[in-house]
Amino acid sequence: MSNHEFAAERPGHPLPVLEEWNRPFFAAGAEGEIRLQVCSKCQRTIYFPRAFCPYCASPEYRWEAQPLSGTIESFSKVWKAENPYFDPELPFHIALVDLHNGVKMFGRLRAASGEPAIGDHVSVEFIQIDDEIWLPRFVSGSVPES
Ligand SMILES: [Zn+2]
Repeated sequence: MSNHEFAAERPGHPLPVLEEWNRPFFAAGAEGEIRLQVCSKCQRTIYFPRAFCPYCASPEYRWEAQPLSGTIESFSKVWKAENPYFDPELPFHIALVDLHNGVKMFGRLRAASGEPAIGDHVSVEFIQIDDEIWLPRFVSGSVPES
């Protein structure tokens, strides 16, 4: 099969259903930010986006920008994707990252140089999926921010 034939058969990127309570998370990458909900009642940061705080069930929250750097707490290399959209990108890494404010996020990890390792510094880049959806992707092996 040629690359052209494969591209024609590649399905679209899997998309979230956008709701009032998750739209700002997916839009924030357009401005180069990770924005997460912070509960107005218990003040805990909420990841991933939800309609209610998972800690105290409050529906009240505000959006706050998060650090664009952190360290790898754990990671895995994906050799077979659940969704065929990702087949051309195999193998790739996914990681649990400790942002520098202690918030933990899960996401794709791009190894800019060499294989990633637990404890590695990561920065963040954003992948535009469509007009409303930008996904943060962690990058290891890059130069740490000063
Ligand atoms: Zn809460």
